[in-house]
Amino acid sequence: MLVVMQAQATEEQVRAVCQKIEALGYRAHSMPGAQRTAIGITGNQGEVESGTLEEMPGVQEVIRVSKPYKLVSRDTKPDNTVIKFPDSPVTIGGPGLAIVAGPCAIENRDQAFKVAECVARAGAQFFRGGAYKPRTSPYSFQGMGEEGLKIMAEVRDRFGLLVVTEAVDYESLELVDQYADVIQIGARNMQNFSLLKRAGRARKPVLLKRGISATLEEFLMAAEYIMSEGNYNVVLCERGVRTFADHTRNTLDLSVVPAVQRLSHLPIIVDPSHGTGKRNKVTPLSRAAVAVGADGLIVEVHHDPDRALSDGMQSLYPDQFDALMAQVRQIAAVLGRSIPASNRVRAEATTSAD
Ligand code: PEP
Ligand code: MN
Repeated sequence: MLVVMQAQATEEQVRAVCQKIEALGYRAHSMPGAQRTAIGITGNQGEVESGTLEEMPGVQEVIRVSKPYKLVSRDTKPDNTVIKFPDSPVTIGGPGLAIVAGPCAIENRDQAFKVAECVARAGAQFFRGGAYKPRTSPYSFQGMGEEGLKIMAEVRDRFGLLVVTEAVDYESLELVDQYADVIQIGARNMQNFSLLKRAGRARKPVLLKRGISATLEEFLMAAEYIMSEGNYNVVLCERGVRTFADHTRNTLDLSVVPAVQRLSHLPIIVDPSHGTGKRNKVTPLSRAAVAVGADGLIVEVHHDPDRALSDGMQSLYPDQFDALMAQVRQIAAVLGRSIPASNRVRAEATTSAD
């Protein structure tokens, strides 16, 4: 159920409706929009008796949401969600594209700093890097753990990049929530429902990657798990699905971008690195992702991919990432979008102009 408030409803009226919903034993999710506030109701087993709510001051109508996902749906919030970060001009889901780049895994401080410098110079606003790596083999490099998170926090201080990193369980999620700016939930955990609920109670935005064989509805329902716990800052990420095709590691499903945008207000970015698994396909599919209307990209870059401890084959060399950025900037402009600089890059530009 969804309570749609009148455009001129006061905050007081919104609060009173939320309190009434909670008093009935349900959970209220107030979703302010450009035109009006909608209040999603969750926690109800059957139909909610809408009569009392309909009569409350400031209420326009009470409607049934027929889709299985409610808070994720555009019916609940017609305008796009724009995710903001404290003390930063960077957003995800606004007119600017969000560019996340960095190594697959943090391997040591020197590697992280070298890659961060390249991606910051090329114009990325976010630095990615795994400290907890979900590897197919238990004998492969599993990540540096908290040490890796500390290195990423240093990268943020030095380069002004916001940090995106994966949490794989409750324990790592707690640490990632402390150190990072965005909590990544990986493809293998897209249906780890208890982890999704824990991410829903975290303070930071969540980057949710599509499961290896998840349908669109399963993908959106995973986001609903996070939102149902009160974290409304969710970014979806298409990273390829498993098909019969064997010329790439996965099949990047770019048609899911407009499909998501039709059904949901949440931003969606694309990962052409895991989506293809091959360095020579990352730039062409980055161009396509921006052209199809994605809100950003997440790209693996390494200063020495041949010696990378994971995903070297799909990691771009720094000069390839420079070229990618130059190309996607032009495509973004066709769509009336741009790639704004990160904090530090802006600060440096201002200083050098003085
Ligand atoms: C990653 O981003 O390094 C990663 C492991 O991604 P995915 O969960 O999409 O495989
Ligand atoms: Mn990787």
